[in-house]
Amino acid sequence: MAAACGEYSDAGMSGKNVTEVVLADADGIARAARILESGGTVAVPTETVYGLAARADRDDAVAKIYAAKGRPDFNPLIVHVRDAEQAARYAQWSEPAGNAVMDVWPGPLTIVVPAKARAPLAKAVTAGLETVALRSPGHPVMQELLGLVDFPLAAPSANRSGFISPTTAEHVLTSLDGRIDLVLDGGPTQAGVESSILAVRADGAWEELRPGPIDLDAFHNERFGTGLPARIGSRSIEAPGQLASHYAPGKPVRLHADKAGPDEYMIGFGRAAGDCTLSQTGDLSEAASRLYGCLHQAAASDLPNIAIAPVPDEGIGRAINDRLRRAAAPVD
Ligand code: AMP
Ligand code: MG
Repeated sequence: MAAACGEYSDAGMSGKNVTEVVLADADGIARAARILESGGTVAVPTETVYGLAARADRDDAVAKIYAAKGRPDFNPLIVHVRDAEQAARYAQWSEPAGNAVMDVWPGPLTIVVPAKARAPLAKAVTAGLETVALRSPGHPVMQELLGLVDFPLAAPSANRSGFISPTTAEHVLTSLDGRIDLVLDGGPTQAGVESSILAVRADGAWEELRPGPIDLDAFHNERFGTGLPARIGSRSIEAPGQLASHYAPGKPVRLHADKAGPDEYMIGFGRAAGDCTLSQTGDLSEAASRLYGCLHQAAASDLPNIAIAPVPDEGIGRAINDRLRRAAAPVD
């Protein structure tokens, strides 16, 4: 439900407020900047999925993200910045961290580094951790928006906590209509899965916290001649965003299916065609960009169950399989 242009209303969490939808043109981006400035919430397109943004330096603004999503407050948020220079205001920006982002930013790489003491960030952003997650997104709309405001943007994916991530403005409205102030509609997102998350430890060691569009193994190999030394899973979970159940379509999901049973909505890949097919040609980038769209369709279908064809576990296929495993995990 789009509101006429008018005074920005402070969307409360009653679910009864109006969410305005505007095109992500110069006027729309300027309006988003004003709403963010005054502490509101705006869903924004990025090159990965739509994010739900609020200014990262104000407690009341960040609290609205947690309330709109129903997100547990122990799950920290990614802070979006214009560039590495702005990032340095919030992080203890060591050489290995700077090197890691140099070739990739702006882009779909989030880096987790020790937070600067007394960094001007709302407390809830880091959820009490001593690290901060930073990313400079490459999407032109986000770049323009970050250029208009003088604060960074906290932005998790723009969906109710635990539900399927949004790759279109319509997906955002499916779960957040009436709970946020504005959606900036910039069309479907490209990469389709959330950013890769890389922790750079105090001793310079690299650790993958979440697979994504950037192949961190290949990236580490290029720089140091070996694959990544460590991934999350080999150690205790420090950030609960890696919870077992996430991206849940609200019905049982069967993985590695070669065909659908009578009561199953089939998500296909390659020769295993489906009601929605991730990529007929077996192209993993195309599959990633269509993943959440297919899951949204499967969730909306009358069929009570979902079957999903196997996807090769290589390159961005690792990110797809990570999301599918969590989509299939039982919700506690
Ligand atoms: P999303 O909610 O989809 O935006 O995902 C954000 C991810 O970043 C979650 O997995 C969070 O747990 C993770 N994250 C944010 N801040 C940190 C941090 N300081 N250390 C580790 N992971 C983080
Ligand atoms: Mg998310």
